[in-house]
Amino acid sequence: MMCALRLAESGVRGVAILEKNERLGRKLSATGNGQGNVTNEDMASRHYFSSTGSAENVLKRFGKSDLLQYLSKLGGLFGADEVGRVYPASRQASSVTDLFRFALARAGVRVLTGETVLEVRKGADFSVRTKNGEYGAKYLVLACGGKASPHFGSDGDGYRFASSFGHTITPLFPSLVRLRTEQTDIRALKGIRSYCAAELIRKEGGRDKTIAVGRGDVLFTDAGVSGDLIFRLSAFCAQGDKLYLNFLPDFSKESVFSLLSEKARYYAELGAEDLLRGVVNSAIGRVVLKRCGISSAVSIRKAAAVLPTIVKMLFAFELTIGKSEGFENAQVTKGGVSMRELDDRLMSKKCDRLYIIGETVDVDGECGGYNLQWAFSSGAVAAEAIKERECNAV
Ligand SMILES: Cc1cc2nc3c(=O)[nH]c(=O)nc-3n(C[C@H](O)[C@H](O)[C@H](O)COP(=O)(O)OP(=O)(O)OC[C@H]3O[C@@H](n4cnc5c(N)ncnc54)[C@H](O)[C@@H]3O)c2cc1C
Repeated sequence: MMCALRLAESGVRGVAILEKNERLGRKLSATGNGQGNVTNEDMASRHYFSSTGSAENVLKRFGKSDLLQYLSKLGGLFGADEVGRVYPASRQASSVTDLFRFALARAGVRVLTGETVLEVRKGADFSVRTKNGEYGAKYLVLACGGKASPHFGSDGDGYRFASSFGHTITPLFPSLVRLRTEQTDIRALKGIRSYCAAELIRKEGGRDKTIAVGRGDVLFTDAGVSGDLIFRLSAFCAQGDKLYLNFLPDFSKESVFSLLSEKARYYAELGAEDLLRGVVNSAIGRVVLKRCGISSAVSIRKAAAVLPTIVKMLFAFELTIGKSEGFENAQVTKGGVSMRELDDRLMSKKCDRLYIIGETVDVDGECGGYNLQWAFSSGAVAAEAIKERECNAV
């Protein structure tokens, strides 16, 4: 939508979008829990991942400020929340889709919905076969998304089309997805959110290797963990990895140990559960005590006997990553069309006048508006390249 609109606005004629769904932007309309987190105040390239290149060049050409200026030109008001995530003031993702829909109509872009592309080929020009017919085009932009949440329309066709032009597709993984864990005792924590630090550890060659670390919200679910922090770590996880949660990331073990020892002396006759009251969420406290072999029925005096173990567990609560929740539940695809095979402005090095943008490319971002920014930026950059080429051709 961004690419088509920018092209049409710059005077390129005959721009068309072929969309398999009955309406445009179904995924965009579902983003950010329906609120549309379109970008982030902190647009550093460290928030992006690619095994074959970097998002940096594209973001330099069309970054956060360009996007916000443009969205405001389209008639929307946008603002950041306290952690820098930018949303429409309406807090309705669908209203962002509407801004594009109105502008596309006004700019004269032909929007053909219900048109599933089946095959793309190139002779002198491109030929695009859909289930209803065949279209010809001088330029072709593949903006088919990835494989994540296929119910919104993108189910991996973009990779198939890119492969048919000789492109390499790097291994694909579901990312920004909740994690299943092998431990079932945390079911008792379902619905509880806790601010944690986390460390993801993998056994490699018999040794523990730290794969990723982070801080943020963890939300316990009926089958594992979710939340901002987990989404960020999910991109790096494999089944069998250990995830250690620190429930008290802003405190030292020593200070917590000394506070709990004092409390145990003062309130020796209270129930064990009360030891951790005011320190961690009470349900988390109960699970921690249970894992340390302490039943809620015993007194704090008894619990105090294993205080070093309790403190250790508050700072490193172990979870084992289970089977992946898969693309069905993921927000984004990690991997895609190799960036090595695209030029700086996302034209294919394998096929002249073919551009590949958005999630189809081997770039994915953290949770927080980074993936939409990439989709918008890559669309704008490809449009600029096509327009320049058309101007030079005249
Ligand atoms: C639930 C959810 C919430 C998210 N929230 C956020 C968020 O708040 N912030 C953020 O930055 N990112 C978020 N994301 C990620 C973000 O939405 C995507 O990375 C982004 O939409 C990718 O844009 P795209 O244009 O590349 O692909 P898409 O948005 O997937 O669009 C591709 C389009 O191509 C169409 N298509 C695919 N194949 C064909 C075909 N063969 N023929 C015709 N049409 C086809 C699809 O129907 C689709 O409409 C979220 C994702 C999900 C699933």
